[in-house]
Amino acid sequence: MPDYQQHEHDVLVIGAGGAGLRAAIEASAAGVSVGLVCKSLLGKAHTVMAEGGIAAALANVDDRDNWKVHFADTMRGGQYVNNWRMAELHAREAPDRVRELEAWGAMFDRTTDGRILQRNFGGHRYPRLAHVGDRTGLEMIRTLQDHGIHQGIDVHMECTIVTLLKDGDRVVGAFGYERERGRFKLFRARAVVLATGGVGRAYKITSNSWEYTGDGHTLAYDAGADLMDMEFVQFHPTGMIWPPSVCGILVTEGVRGEGGVLRNSQGRRFMFDDIPENYRAQTADNEDEGWRYTQGDKSARRPPELLTRDHVSRCIVREIKEGRGSPHGGVFLDISWIKARLPNAAEVIRKKLPSMYHQFKQLADIDITREPMEVGPTTHYIMGGVRVNADTQMSTVPGLFAAGECAAGINGANRLGGNSLSDLLVFGKRAGEFAAQFAKSEKAGTNGDIDVQQIDAAAQRALEPFERGPQGEAPYQVQYALQEMMQNLVGIVRNEPEMTRALECLARLRERAARAGVGGNREYNPGWHAALDLHNLLTVSEAIARSAIDRRESRGGHFRDDCPEKDAACASFNIITRKGRDGSMEVDRVSIPPMPEELKKVIEEMK
Ligand SMILES: Cc1cc2nc3c(=O)[nH]c(=O)nc-3n(C[C@H](O)[C@H](O)[C@H](O)COP(=O)(O)OP(=O)(O)OC[C@H]3O[C@@H](n4cnc5c(N)ncnc54)[C@H](O)[C@@H]3O)c2cc1C
Repeated sequence: MPDYQQHEHDVLVIGAGGAGLRAAIEASAAGVSVGLVCKSLLGKAHTVMAEGGIAAALANVDDRDNWKVHFADTMRGGQYVNNWRMAELHAREAPDRVRELEAWGAMFDRTTDGRILQRNFGGHRYPRLAHVGDRTGLEMIRTLQDHGIHQGIDVHMECTIVTLLKDGDRVVGAFGYERERGRFKLFRARAVVLATGGVGRAYKITSNSWEYTGDGHTLAYDAGADLMDMEFVQFHPTGMIWPPSVCGILVTEGVRGEGGVLRNSQGRRFMFDDIPENYRAQTADNEDEGWRYTQGDKSARRPPELLTRDHVSRCIVREIKEGRGSPHGGVFLDISWIKARLPNAAEVIRKKLPSMYHQFKQLADIDITREPMEVGPTTHYIMGGVRVNADTQMSTVPGLFAAGECAAGINGANRLGGNSLSDLLVFGKRAGEFAAQFAKSEKAGTNGDIDVQQIDAAAQRALEPFERGPQGEAPYQVQYALQEMMQNLVGIVRNEPEMTRALECLARLRERAARAGVGGNREYNPGWHAALDLHNLLTVSEAIARSAIDRRESRGGHFRDDCPEKDAACASFNIITRKGRDGSMEVDRVSIPPMPEELKKVIEEMK
């Protein structure tokens, strides 16, 4: 019997980013006791990194905007495999959630007449992103944290949950360890909300923080819940690739917006070589026109560097794969070339792109006013996650809810920028509301029985890396091998033979992970934490690979060079992965329910 502290809450929220905080606030407001667990310190969740803004059809800057346009934009962006009910709720409710955030103290940028300012973003027809400079996520977290802290929520910081506990079908709690002291903790709960974010650390190059190891996805999967849409991973075209310590950090699209161009090792602007037919009429066919567009000439068409993120990412990968990459395995992004056009180019670059200037100067010793940057696509977001009911956010396991990036549905095959922060608010609130309702209801009954055997087994599994000791496999080596493999075989451009190889590699990596060992003791031991993360990373990687093999077409973030076209027949289903009875991963397809006529009409009207 392991030694552990015990806590009891009506609703336990795992994750303190935007989704988790919003869920905790709502559950607490419903009068139930709430516990909030997070791996890092409160206020440090990944959401703080969000920059551009929160998408909500407030119509403050363009009064043609409304929920219908936002709904249609989201469905088009997701290439029509979204959960249309979630997309509808999101578009309808996001404005209220943003106004509520404002009422709780968020200091949004303002229009001249004092309303919340909104900016343009890819895929949104009108200026729609409520923002606070380029630190919107920080302001969101600050506001939710300030508000939540006064609601009597119990926060358990620097604590990692390793398993959910069940009584029969239903979830009745969670078990984890304190990162600092290594002690175990048991949480009894009548309902659990997962708000654990994404999976980016399964890839070598990612803009995601260390927290993104697919924990919530795996906790749900192990508890018997369905995962959905795991093949849809979003790759942003420009992340830093050198030095290794900063690999994946985002390089804003603004660099290309100000005239930055992409070149291969032969100095060629390769984006001109591959302009998709449906964008040809809107895209410049020569360098001069592209340059004029970036300088505000309304008669000019956009340069091909500003085509959609998925397309630019794929072109970059093609250059690298065909041997025309930069020395560190990316391509060149050059803004310094504008000195040929502007006498005061260096000054302009420093003024318009101050953070990029500092980012490269300080982290890579590159002066972007004089030399090109090396960039490559970076894993940015996962559209897939826990399959939930659109209205309540409950998963297929009673009492288990999910919201935010770890839940699936709203984004379909591709997320529009800004739609994540609004998703956190809309569905975080709903998850908290319905988890509280579940906790109070007869369905939750009395507090479920905690099965001591489940706890013993979880504790034993967690301690196995110490039993194997430092002579076991080094956990970081297994993690690096996994990241390298996922990047190469299940990355931006995929095909069946490579993904089948990925599954073989995953089986071998699982064997290595089972041999992973660590030395030292349980007090702040990152090697131990990395060893425990491996199970999560391997599970989400397998779900991504299996789903991607099953989707025999290209759609949104999922591109296969062996099936490069979109297949209309594949628009009718979502792909599910779940744990089979024998413990292996099952892949299933579920039909997308027919869209109600009034929503179909909205899409038609907005075409
Ligand atoms: C650089 C960057 C910029 C972005 N900019 C924007 C933008 O402008 N607009 C936009 O809409 N989106 C943006 N995104 C995406 C957006 O930031 C994320 O999708 C969103 O913040 C996810 O929020 P979340 O609440 O789901 O999870 P998070 O904010 O990541 O929170 C996850 C929480 O779960 C906890 N957790 C995880 N696992 C466990 C565990 N096992 N036990 C206990 N706790 C756990 C973590 O500690 C953390 O508290 C950006 C992303 C990046 C990387």
